[in-house]
Amino acid sequence: MTVTQDRPVTYAKMRGVVSFFSALLKGKKVGFLHKLASTQQLYQRLDAQKILRRKEKEQKLMESSVSTETSEVKPSDFDYLKVIGRGSFGKVLLARHRKQGGYYAVKVLQKQMIVKRKEQKHVMVERSVLQKALLHPFLVGLHFSFQTPNTLFFVLDYVNGGELFYHLQREGSFPEHRSVFYAAEMAMALGYLHSLEIVYRDLKPENILLDSEGHVKLTDFGLCKEGVAVGGIMHTFCGTPEYLAPEVLQGHPYSRAVDWWGLGAVLFEMLYGLPPFYSRSKAKMFENILYAPLKLHNKASLAARSLLGGLLERDVSKRLGSSRDLVELQEHPLFCTINWDDLLARKVIPPFIPEVTGPCDISYIDSAFTQQPVPVSANEWCQPGGASEAFPGFSFMNPEEYMSAPLVS
Ligand code: ATP
Ligand code: MG
Repeated sequence: MTVTQDRPVTYAKMRGVVSFFSALLKGKKVGFLHKLASTQQLYQRLDAQKILRRKEKEQKLMESSVSTETSEVKPSDFDYLKVIGRGSFGKVLLARHRKQGGYYAVKVLQKQMIVKRKEQKHVMVERSVLQKALLHPFLVGLHFSFQTPNTLFFVLDYVNGGELFYHLQREGSFPEHRSVFYAAEMAMALGYLHSLEIVYRDLKPENILLDSEGHVKLTDFGLCKEGVAVGGIMHTFCGTPEYLAPEVLQGHPYSRAVDWWGLGAVLFEMLYGLPPFYSRSKAKMFENILYAPLKLHNKASLAARSLLGGLLERDVSKRLGSSRDLVELQEHPLFCTINWDDLLARKVIPPFIPEVTGPCDISYIDSAFTQQPVPVSANEWCQPGGASEAFPGFSFMNPEEYMSAPLVS
């Protein structure tokens, strides 16, 4: 994916852009200790996280009694209806389960490409993160994963309210209350991943989807484009660094705080319509991210500017969220109206509700994708040969599917 156009760019063009930097970082975990805050108020805020933890334990128990490793699910169990996205290793398709009738987004990855780039390990990381993400309301969940000799398949929730980027492009910027709502849901999702010792690293509008009710769903738990030396990045780089933290651009060690920078960059773009440090020249933008002063026009409120300043802080040790993670953000005045428990329970009514007619509605998906031909037959994914032994343990069935639905033969 080598889109090189500068802004302004169309939505479809931007969709093709892959940041070499973010790609380089995908799939690597960074460990940390989640320090609990001491005050009563903070404990209350962490209650929601505890509930998720408990759910996670229950799921583990379930998994230990039910084998989720299954080879029963196969490509021909689904009708493939539309192309809805493009990933680094293949297409994302809207599909309908032939017997059960549900709609899913099926992310198809070509094994040959993965093996060639030595990224098998990172596919397994993505699979494992997706499995855990099932438990969080603002992360895309995995229903099945399976493989054929040439291809890997992730069967995900189909999230059909459109990419945040799609809406942002159409509207230019969002009113502050809408931006704050999305930022708060994203913060909860990131905080949850951090609590599992996962750094997301790739927060950018195209990986943030809206579901049919208007809630955020983060997708893309990524494949690492390994084997790309940091020194080589500048030569081969054809994407954009706009959401990447300075420490990442400089190749310095990084921590979960990169996600809080990413959130700052996305919040900035929602409020002002362009990413922070934006320049038509990528080299200049790169330089700006590292050195230019952050300009915060008073279109945004004082509280919003203060949060942006805290998140887009180059000194990692001073960055908001760098010591107590999500809790530090939750305490910020910009979020003072947010009831975090209600938010997590999806009780807060989203400020924008996508107009979708049903679970297979594709009106918010860019026609550049939906007009592409769907592969004529799932059978073409079942050709013999390839490297299936490279992905042992890839197959997965969500225990709930296992319990509730008869296996399709
Ligand atoms: P890249 O590395 O280029 O970001 P990727 O290989 O990681 O791509 P994804 O980002 O997971 O692939 O998917 C590509 C696009 O497909 C997304 O930007 C999104 O528009 C669409 N997509 C992915 N998952 C879903 C989903 N569950 N529901 C609806 N659309 C989705
Ligand atoms: Mg992506």
